[in-house]
Amino acid sequence: MIPPAWISRPDEVNAQVARWQEEHSEIFLAESRRQFAGYPVWALTVTDRSIDDAGKRKLTIYKPHAHEPAPIAAQMNVINQLLTGETFDGRASEFDNERVLRECLIVFMPDANPEGTARAPVEAWDGSEYTNDEFWAWMRGPDPETGLMWKRVDIYDDREEEVLPTRRGIVYEQIDEHRFVEPNRHHASSLFQWIFELLRRRDDWSMMLSLHQTEFVNSPHNAMMILPCLYDELPEDIQRYEREWAQEIVDAWGQVAGANPIPEIKPLGYSDEQRRYFVDCWGDLYQRIPIVTSEIQNNSPCTPPALQQRLNEVAIRTSIERLLRV
Ligand SMILES: [Zn+2]
Repeated sequence: MIPPAWISRPDEVNAQVARWQEEHSEIFLAESRRQFAGYPVWALTVTDRSIDDAGKRKLTIYKPHAHEPAPIAAQMNVINQLLTGETFDGRASEFDNERVLRECLIVFMPDANPEGTARAPVEAWDGSEYTNDEFWAWMRGPDPETGLMWKRVDIYDDREEEVLPTRRGIVYEQIDEHRFVEPNRHHASSLFQWIFELLRRRDDWSMMLSLHQTEFVNSPHNAMMILPCLYDELPEDIQRYEREWAQEIVDAWGQVAGANPIPEIKPLGYSDEQRRYFVDCWGDLYQRIPIVTSEIQNNSPCTPPALQQRLNEVAIRTSIERLLRV
């Protein structure tokens, strides 16, 4: 069941963005880049626009992967709290709105690949309709021989692949007639095009929060924080900041009914090719800005959509509270 405060479909996101633009333009700026498939990829700035940005603390929040919709729903619900004082289902804002708007500039990128989101067969993955194998075949496309998921690459060209999936995986973003990228692993994605644009505009970003979901197969846990794969090589102040920030989110999750976060906080454990994608794409940014990743369970009855959304909201709220404090 889709929770009452859940908005993730691109048509609903676009309509809500238009409403906010209409009603809250003094504290809300909506900008979009059009992805190849024609959908707007939003960067939504929330701040008191009458106050100079120079002294504000700055946070970017983004969601790269189209098969992970809860971070969209969470960002939309947090934005609504900051703009209207209420969640979509009428709970009072958990923030000191006036202070957040005065002291912070927050850019939300609720969905870096709306075309992928639009092609998903469900609004939320709750584990009731698709096995993980079926879900993963939606994510990367079904391999024509096995029916199981196709491969994970940073970019592919449909003229050059010997075997193509029978249906394009929703995680891949089309960037021209023939090429498709994994948004978190290639600089040609709308995600990275937006991040580079935000970095061109200002170089004083305090934090970046990357929101994800994963399946936690054979694990009793349903949430975890991940540090950058290059964590051990980062400047000490960034290491300390990221470690404390991630710990605060894990501690906050511990207060949520149904949450079972992994207590240990570690750097991303990929090796070989997958690690190389991250080093190539993110290595330079990791040296400059504290960036942490949250992962909430997807496609499991253990973590229903309302809890998926809640845990993402708590990660965002904890990050904004830290932004105000540190
Ligand atoms: Zn992801």
